[in-house]
Amino acid sequence: TKWVYSFGNGKADGKADMKELLGGKGANLAEMSSLGLPVPPGFTISTEVCTAYYDNDRNYPSDLAGQVDVALKEIENIVGVKFGDNANPLLVSVRSGARASMPGMMDTVLNLGLNDITVEGLAKISGDERFAYDSYRRFIQMYSDVVLEVGHHFFEDILEFHKEDNGFYLDTELTAEDWKAVIVQYKKVVEDEYGKPFPQDPNEQLWGAVSAVFGSWMNARATTYRKLNDIPAAWGTAVNVQAMVFGNMGEDCSTGVAFTRNPSTGENAFYGEYLINAQGEDVVAGIRTPQNLTIKGREEHNSDLPSMEETMPEVFKQLDETRHILEKHYRDMQDIEFTVQSNKLFMLQTRSGKRTTAAALQIAVDMVEEGLITTEEAVSRVEPAALDQLLHPTLDPKAERNVIGHGLPASPGAASGQIVFSADEAEKMAQAGKAVILCRTETSPEDIHGMHAAKGILTSRGGMTSHAAVVARGMGRPCVSGAGDLRMDYKNGTLIVRDQELKSGDIITIDGSTGEVMLGEIPTIQPEMSGNFSTLMKWADSIRTMKVRTNAETPNDCRTALSFGAEGIGLCRTEHMFFDADRIVAVREMILSDDEAGRRKALDKILPMQRDDFAEIFKIMAGLPVTIRLLDPPLHEFLPHGEAEMQDVADAAGVPIEKLHARAAKMSETNPMLGHRGCRLGISYPEIYEMQARAIFEAAAQVSKTEGQTVEPEVMIPLVGMKKELEILKELVDRVAKEVMEAEGVEMKYLVGTMIELPRAALRAGDIAEEAEFFSFGTNDLTQTTFGLSRDDAGNFLGAYERNGIIEQDPFISLDQEGVGELVEIAAERGRKTRGDIKLGICGEHGGDPASIHFCQKVGLDYVSCSPFRVPIARLAAAQAAI
Ligand code: PEP
Ligand code: MG
Repeated sequence: TKWVYSFGNGKADGKADMKELLGGKGANLAEMSSLGLPVPPGFTISTEVCTAYYDNDRNYPSDLAGQVDVALKEIENIVGVKFGDNANPLLVSVRSGARASMPGMMDTVLNLGLNDITVEGLAKISGDERFAYDSYRRFIQMYSDVVLEVGHHFFEDILEFHKEDNGFYLDTELTAEDWKAVIVQYKKVVEDEYGKPFPQDPNEQLWGAVSAVFGSWMNARATTYRKLNDIPAAWGTAVNVQAMVFGNMGEDCSTGVAFTRNPSTGENAFYGEYLINAQGEDVVAGIRTPQNLTIKGREEHNSDLPSMEETMPEVFKQLDETRHILEKHYRDMQDIEFTVQSNKLFMLQTRSGKRTTAAALQIAVDMVEEGLITTEEAVSRVEPAALDQLLHPTLDPKAERNVIGHGLPASPGAASGQIVFSADEAEKMAQAGKAVILCRTETSPEDIHGMHAAKGILTSRGGMTSHAAVVARGMGRPCVSGAGDLRMDYKNGTLIVRDQELKSGDIITIDGSTGEVMLGEIPTIQPEMSGNFSTLMKWADSIRTMKVRTNAETPNDCRTALSFGAEGIGLCRTEHMFFDADRIVAVREMILSDDEAGRRKALDKILPMQRDDFAEIFKIMAGLPVTIRLLDPPLHEFLPHGEAEMQDVADAAGVPIEKLHARAAKMSETNPMLGHRGCRLGISYPEIYEMQARAIFEAAAQVSKTEGQTVEPEVMIPLVGMKKELEILKELVDRVAKEVMEAEGVEMKYLVGTMIELPRAALRAGDIAEEAEFFSFGTNDLTQTTFGLSRDDAGNFLGAYERNGIIEQDPFISLDQEGVGELVEIAAERGRKTRGDIKLGICGEHGGDPASIHFCQKVGLDYVSCSPFRVPIARLAAAQAAI
């Protein structure tokens, strides 16, 4: 088996589409190398080795070592120096690289190959003794931490003491002699803590680092990140070994990170940060606040530090050309890492860049205009679920704001919450239902869970590409980073802004779009959709074949859904209308009366109100299809909660309260979700469904007359399991429709259909379709009844099911395609067989879940229906499903 893939010198064994085997980093290094870009030579040990390593009790395939030797020789030949050579040593970096990018999640070792002898060689060859010993001490520190598990703090303490003893303030004040002294102590601490001397053999170092990277695939940080991002453990990571280049060899050296377009706005402008005389990780780690790449960026950020465009114009020009080459080649915005060694540019990484949703839209639309991609590609480039980000609230511009500090606008959106200083606390308070803003000097991969739990993230150090900024953008959390005028005092739990001192628990607001930090909670407003959004949505609409409707029953929700592009209502849950203040007493009166006459009396009071509700919805929906579901939940859900409420009902009905109590007690059920609900109510109390049908048809008649609109109501009967149920209730609806049409003197078209939310209904769909003119899959109940899993209680134990790998995802969020899905397929097929033109839709929560929407496309449903805010997500997902 080929385990090792070389790259460099304009050639490569691998290419960009081999990410599964080489990881993202390795595949793209190979691709860049083949493109002739200046990539330091190296090789990638494939993800198959990672898998084999874990399958084999952490042992490598026997032929791996030989292949690594050969690949190492190739690097030596290209660079012209030898690994472990005393006079002129080749140094390498060893980095992880999984299929999906996992920023900062796994370990990296730089400057590998240095030891007590080779460091002298490096000093001579570079002519810079200080640089050589600084590199060696960095290597000892990184290697010890990552491979030998001797923690950073040992080394930091040594360095701090050394600085104190000598009256130094900055690392740059240390001379070569200082570093030599520090190294002696570093090696001693390794020997004390690790029990063996620091390894001097470069080969031993190499294999130690490779094993540490493979080992880090299973560390806690990586495992958490995978869990949050749905990355399977089985993918494994690759290891990249690459010749070192140095950005820290003097003032003509630098290192940086850039995006080929602005990752926040999507603007087609080169965007990035660099540090002069610094090594690789310094930029990402957020330890020094970096300088802007371009003059434009410097001006936008009001920075006094010169840009790379000014300090290194020649190299910048080459980098800018590389930017264009990469974009043309990859046809997507790239996130790149580079190093400049003695005015020579080296590319260390390229990958498709993470971006805000606003930027994703801008870039997709621009690239279509630039002729770089097709509209289909543009549509498939935007993650449907990420559209949520656009729906983030922004600060009400009219609201007063007390701005106490400024940072970088690292991730858009506004958020308010209580100050917390640690990730654990953020998680704890969020679980208790509190909104929190995680405030850190800077964040690290250990803070991921807290960033996830927080409403927003605020850091006092680090740039736009710092860990906090990158991760927050990916998560869609608002973030202000590098707010230098704030100081976090973790020990005392205070946030200090000039003369003010805020405490943990105080409320602040951050605006990740402007970088402002404000005192207190500030009102927000809902965002408006941009031009790009509607352009992309238009493309999506022209591609998709399924319609997108909404689940809505209030005028407000209907309007919101329409503004998001809903093409009708797929589910109007009439019971939600029963709770309004003007009618709940009448509803209770109806439920608690013990005979039909009593119920009819109460229903007469409800009828005009329901009619007005429906009329308003028909008006708003202006001729679009509207599916109204007749009463569904068990009646006891409407019962009064206390004596006072009970008394109101007694007064309205004119009966003694004791009688109502007795009736309420009789209504209690052991298993209400399997009890007297859905169409069973219509069978036992036909007058309820009669009233609802009347309200629907009278409203439709009224709106067609006054508004001149055609209204074609779709009346939906819930929880049908047997054809006969539907037969009886359809007759009832038809009868009422006829009565209303005659009384009003109008002709109306309408449909009567059913929900499919019981396994029996799915299996007998062929029969049921003889009555039903449409099916709407109620996958909430269908999931509940197929699994025999209570949708109201499953949350208590599904976590354990996910942890044990029994289920991958909560089946109430993403459709169980194998099980519940099979019933959907069966029902669709049998329904169509009986009635060729039967209309099929879905109205369970899954109608707004992209993966489930793909499934609906596969089954050939006519529409999906989801909550208003998910309508854009569904439109985009439906388009992607159709491509
Ligand atoms: C369903 O069961 O999927 C459904 C849409 O109905 P409800 O959620 O109201 O039970
Ligand atoms: Mg249901």
